[in-house]
Amino acid sequence: MSLNTLATLAAEIATGAVRIVDLTHTLDPDFPVIILPPEFGQCARFRMEEVSAYDHRGPGWKWHNLTLNEHTGTHFDAPAHWISGRDLPHNTVDAIPVSDFVGPVVVIDCTQGAEKDDDFELTPEGIAVHEATHGKIPKDAWVFMRTDWSKRSGAAYLNMKDDGPHSPGPTPEAIQMLINKRDIRGFGTETVGTDAGQGAHYAPPFPAHYFLHGAGKYGLQCMANLDQLPPTGALLLAAPLKIKNGTGSPLRVMALVADGAS
Ligand code: MN
Repeated sequence: MSLNTLATLAAEIATGAVRIVDLTHTLDPDFPVIILPPEFGQCARFRMEEVSAYDHRGPGWKWHNLTLNEHTGTHFDAPAHWISGRDLPHNTVDAIPVSDFVGPVVVIDCTQGAEKDDDFELTPEGIAVHEATHGKIPKDAWVFMRTDWSKRSGAAYLNMKDDGPHSPGPTPEAIQMLINKRDIRGFGTETVGTDAGQGAHYAPPFPAHYFLHGAGKYGLQCMANLDQLPPTGALLLAAPLKIKNGTGSPLRVMALVADGAS
């Protein structure tokens, strides 16, 4: 790495040889938030209150007060989000080393399975199929589960039924493989959580949250445009807000994709 490398990168971004893909949904009061069983506390929706709009409340300026849960819209999960990660060092968004916010990303295409089955599971076998074509997932990579779920909106996004939400996710075994055998940095999805909609029924419940955060790994969820990423070779930029003792935050997730990657 040298000054030259950065100058080349800047030039290639300017020419479009390196594309920057936005993986973020617009933060909007109507964007769905996770709904937990009624005995638990609930995630507040994003709200925006106008303070002034070039009027008597502030003649020269417009601004808003925001209300939101840390886990609203496209957002980052820190290890402190889960009980398994509560005693780890650097486990909140303000304490994570900033170098962890920039890194390679591998995208596992689960679109065919998710199209046929709302409860589609990413398994160790599914990871092996991906690796047979695209190579072994490198240490410290983000791994994204692409389902095209981000193309849904409204009620179809949470997909609530009488027995709770139905959306794709990883099995406990798949998440353990990614952590213990591949030593990934984090796991990301297009759905409302890193776990499947029915993730409460695994052992342990919500295994992606439990195992990722217990191992000091991160989560990203509610992402969009994963169909614009290559299976390997993109560079991810995902930096949460620096909230003191924060367990997560909405953020702008972007990926750098080189020309010729597909
Ligand atoms: Mn979250």
